[in-house]
Amino acid sequence: MKFLCLDCDRQMTFAERQEPGDGTFAASFTCPACGRSVALLANPMETQLVGALGVRIGGRELDEQPMEFVRKNVVGRDDAFVDAPDGTGRTACPAWSAEAEERLARVPGFVRGMVKKIYGEYAADRGIAEITPDVMDRARTELGLEGM
Ligand SMILES: [Zn+2]
Repeated sequence: MKFLCLDCDRQMTFAERQEPGDGTFAASFTCPACGRSVALLANPMETQLVGALGVRIGGRELDEQPMEFVRKNVVGRDDAFVDAPDGTGRTACPAWSAEAEERLARVPGFVRGMVKKIYGEYAADRGIAEITPDVMDRARTELGLEGM
């Protein structure tokens, strides 16, 4: 089980695990680049599921196959977070103005990468080369993203 920091595109490293003894467990992971951390909390059923899949959290990766599978299909694809030109006339990767970056920085960390991607796709779809606060306002209104 891995977590990817969307901002940094870095795999978060395991920091700590806790097993209170009631079948649940908690594990925390930290991004080596920006220091952001996330915690994973699992109820007894989820804990068993993870165990059944042969995935160790915070331990050695005993079974490489499931991890490979997850990497390939969920987070590890090379282009998972890159908008590549796909023949639909989209701009590959719109630039962010300093003001827009500043505003993006105020978005809560755990959704920032996703929000950035949403705005990026909005701009790319419309052939907008640079994302500015004005573009963000329009995207918010059009996409119904109030508060993002
Ligand atoms: Zn990070």
